[in-house]
Amino acid sequence: MSQIELGYTADYHVHLRQGDMMNAVTPTIREGGISVAYVMPNLTPPITNLEAVLKYKEELQKLAPKTTFLMTFYLSRLLTPELVERAAESGAIRGIKCYPAGVTTNSSAGVDPNNFTEFYPIFEVMQKHGLVLNIHGEKPSVDNNNDEESITVLNAEPKFLPALFKIHNDFPKLKLVLEHCSTRKAIDAIYEINANLKEGETPIVCGSITAHHLFLTVDDWAGNPVNFCKPVAKLPEDRKALIEAATSGKPYFFFGSDSAPHDIAKKSTHIKVSAGVYTQPYVLTYVAEVFDKVGKLANLRGFVSTFGNSFYGIDESKLVCKDKCFLVKKPVQIPEVSVYGNIRVVAFQPGGKFSWRPEWH
Ligand SMILES: [Zn+2]
Repeated sequence: MSQIELGYTADYHVHLRQGDMMNAVTPTIREGGISVAYVMPNLTPPITNLEAVLKYKEELQKLAPKTTFLMTFYLSRLLTPELVERAAESGAIRGIKCYPAGVTTNSSAGVDPNNFTEFYPIFEVMQKHGLVLNIHGEKPSVDNNNDEESITVLNAEPKFLPALFKIHNDFPKLKLVLEHCSTRKAIDAIYEINANLKEGETPIVCGSITAHHLFLTVDDWAGNPVNFCKPVAKLPEDRKALIEAATSGKPYFFFGSDSAPHDIAKKSTHIKVSAGVYTQPYVLTYVAEVFDKVGKLANLRGFVSTFGNSFYGIDESKLVCKDKCFLVKKPVQIPEVSVYGNIRVVAFQPGGKFSWRPEWH
């Protein structure tokens, strides 16, 4: 197999930033082999109104005319059920991103994961309109002196899972994505919720998986800020569970890169290293490498294309470009540093050599 048709590829979790960084990274979505990009709202200030989301989409579309952008709101007290209803009806947003306060870049306006009930009127509207709730599933370590909780970057995701089950239980028809699953426990939770899903049915609760979590463990980011992200990469057994889930051919696991660029200066500081791995220009190259290694290239199309598109209800006739993505066996070398004008970013696996690259036909 030296060429694989992937169709309308999609990355259901991208950070495209603002200003110079936005100008630099937005065109790399297509270079990386992605047709549909689901855009995160954690800008400064976060996207919480119609005007901001429409303006942002317009900016992105100018930078990448062949990419289809799906937009999101940032779940916060600034949203109202009426606003969400209007945004859903006009098609301005496809979902809402929920950040527990303080867990990652620009998340200080997020929600308290111990109590989602104040947002239930919004969830009600989302459920009615088929909007997706995208959850950053980590419980923040607010009180390290509380021994019972003792939350760290290693267990923040498992500690969050009861909240996922509660939301699903309270809103059984609300579409949920547990974003960037990083532990076996998270994978097991998604399997558990979908235990009774019948062949051919579209799931209600899914887990998205990044490219970099298929490669990394704790040892790779301890001491290496290029590999440091939230949620952090965990143990070898967790990585094994993620690879098995991604390559399983199950429709409730699909791709969301969480590509999160930071200028090299923010990665090379001795205080508060920014969390985020930049994968956008090579996302399919990385993912294909892993699928190839475990002999599951036949399941790649589901993971990076059909499963996510079917969950999000993508209407192919509405894509801004109908080019299809093909993966071809050709060598790729990741640069040591990517330079875009005055922006310098280190892409994942700098200097690394890979075997697959995307082409458009
Ligand atoms: Zn993210």
